Amino acid sequence: MSIQFLCVSCRQPIEIDDQWAMKVVECPYCHEQVTAPASSTYQPGEPLVARGVAGGPPSAVMSAPAAGPMTPERTRSGNAVAVASLVLSGLSLLLFVVFMGLMGAKLSSMKMSPSATPEQQVQDAQQFVLDAAEKGEPWVFTAIFLMIGALACWPAGVICGLIGVSKPVRRGYAITGLVAAAIPLAIVLAAMLV
Ligand SMILES: [Zn+2]
Repeated sequence: MSIQFLCVSCRQPIEIDDQWAMKVVECPYCHEQVTAPASSTYQPGEPLVARGVAGGPPSAVMSAPAAGPMTPERTRSGNAVAVASLVLSGLSLLLFVVFMGLMGAKLSSMKMSPSATPEQQVQDAQQFVLDAAEKGEPWVFTAIFLMIGALACWPAGVICGLIGVSKPVRRGYAITGLVAAAIPLAIVLAAMLV
């Protein structure tokens, strides 16, 4: 037996096994999570089979050899924002690390008087970068692009991560994205405190 109903989100006809009655399933069309009715509310032509998502079927059914609508499909179900958070935060972190590496390499090549105070060293470093920009040295522009890229991806990654953790699927991706986004911030804050 199966239950046919219309997805409340996209109005496409979907079909599920009886064991998913009154439970949350993922619509195969729009991938929204919808609650199945207790019995059919739609007479089907050729409905697609929905994937089970949360609050699974009774354990007796889950352990049956037929495996039910759970497992493999479940791991593939959406939460695109969590994935986006992971990608954006990772990209931001990568650009930030490359930027830091480039700046570190260039500044270490700069002549620094050993008697300079930390304040003078910061001023010298700023002057070094400004001079390089004035001379049109390509690495300055590369550094600016890296920094803009990192700054652009960072808030997008944080926002996607915050949205992604509210969804039951792929929450780990969103959390990892938020952690990746927090690393550059932590480095900058630590540098300011030193
Ligand atoms: Zn739908």
